[in-house]
Amino acid sequence: MPPAPMPDDWQRALVVAAHPDDIEYGIAAAVAVWTAAGKEVRYLLATRGEAGMAGVPPEQAGPLREDEERRSAAVVGVREVEFLDHRDGVLVAGPELRRDLAGAIRRHRPELVVTGYFGATWTPPGVTPAYVNSADHRALGQCVVDAVADAANEWIFPELTAPPWRGVQYIAVGELVDPPHEVDVSAAVEQAVASLSEHRRYLELLSDAPVEEQARQVVDMSTMTEDGRRRVGFRLFWG
Ligand SMILES: [Zn+2]
Repeated sequence: MPPAPMPDDWQRALVVAAHPDDIEYGIAAAVAVWTAAGKEVRYLLATRGEAGMAGVPPEQAGPLREDEERRSAAVVGVREVEFLDHRDGVLVAGPELRRDLAGAIRRHRPELVVTGYFGATWTPPGVTPAYVNSADHRALGQCVVDAVADAANEWIFPELTAPPWRGVQYIAVGELVDPPHEVDVSAAVEQAVASLSEHRRYLELLSDAPVEEQARQVVDMSTMTEDGRRRVGFRLFWG
């Protein structure tokens, strides 16, 4: 079955990720489409990605990557970016992370919560060996879907001060292979490339290729379909 368009009956989205640059590996193209249509989108990052730069100590990498994430967000029309300050690389799916995510969901009061694919592995058609998803991505995604329910429940985390939020209509989880829903991002490819390119210092360390070239390759890989269309795919769950 071809993917269905994403529902439109929401006004504010909260995109939740483990690390700076996770959102820019695909989802940012959809964010650009949404903000251009007048939706409000905010970002929530569990960590500052401080363990992500070889040769750069965490105390330098953290602020640098936070700054790059804020610039990336601005390119696609996102002004609010919050960091929860969990330690990069050792996210654990459990009550501590759920509580902090639930607290943030209560503060931001989104109707749509978006997060990246968090299955253990993924296998694009015809590709072998397959890919293992990072431990942080697995833990974060599981906690995001649980935290939507926690945010609505007054008893699970009574220490949270913001009132319960029961307004999440949908949870959208990134899906690269055969997504049930999609956002047409044909008009947002250049913005997505520019957004990922803001992770300049990070990408410069990853490869000798020019940053814009690396960014274009990633955006192409994460948005191009076999018939040459551009889309970002999601699997939707009720909030
Ligand atoms: Zn990541």
